[in-house]
Amino acid sequence: MSGRRWSDAPVCATCGVEQAEPLPETCRICADERQWVPGSGQAWTSLDALTATREIRVEELEPGLWGLTSEPAVGIGQRAILVPGDLLWDPLGVVTEAAVERVRQLGGARRIVASHPHMHGAQVAWAEALGARVLVHEADAEWLQRDHELVERWSGSRELAPGLALHTLGGHFPGAAVAIWAAGSGGLGSMLAGDTIQPKPDRRHVAFMRSYPNHLPLSHRVVRRIADAAAGLRYRRLYGNIPGQLIEDGPEAVERSAVRHIRWVLGDFDHLT
Ligand SMILES: [Zn+2]
Ligand SMILES: [Zn+2]
Repeated sequence: MSGRRWSDAPVCATCGVEQAEPLPETCRICADERQWVPGSGQAWTSLDALTATREIRVEELEPGLWGLTSEPAVGIGQRAILVPGDLLWDPLGVVTEAAVERVRQLGGARRIVASHPHMHGAQVAWAEALGARVLVHEADAEWLQRDHELVERWSGSRELAPGLALHTLGGHFPGAAVAIWAAGSGGLGSMLAGDTIQPKPDRRHVAFMRSYPNHLPLSHRVVRRIADAAAGLRYRRLYGNIPGQLIEDGPEAVERSAVRHIRWVLGDFDHLT
């Protein structure tokens, strides 16, 4: 039929993460308090069904950095980010031949890495399609729902290539990570942040939450720890994992937002409630 190189697998319809068979009763990621199983019950789809019904758009976010989005969206609806040659970040829950071909033309990706388990997507299928390996954080390995010989564990900080590194910040998940691409933002560095630092629509603030859909905040200590860890990284632009999420002055926005969050949870603004 075609030159496709990835195998079919079940996918959770709610989070868009690929699964191994036999299927559990509910997706473990969605049954966790950070996500949700629909009131109508667990729903499954498959990579083949998604491939047949989705188109993946690939567009340049800044010189040398590319965003991939599925139309219509799959699962949580993330935007994957490609650093050509080295990294496909927060992979989509769907793979198409056209997108694989485009990514290969741009230089491919040696590693597939999700910022945290909500973003695992179809990471194994993407690794098969691109001849890549998947890195899963050791601290969050219990959430891996489709293990594979292409999957490796990592922790701490890890250089993927000169000028491209992963850093564990924790928070949203113990192994929640960001990637710093030193060539981004005109050489000042760009941060690819998962949900542990989430850009908000005013483009001046970010949020730090255990759960975004269920509005579970992180404590003042954890927010301070995340902001301090981020302050030790060299970057300007901060990219979120949802299309359009971008902050130009990342370090200022992170500190401003951390102070606001900490003051709210410590009760400084209780008179406003
Ligand atoms: Zn799920
Ligand atoms: Zn998340």
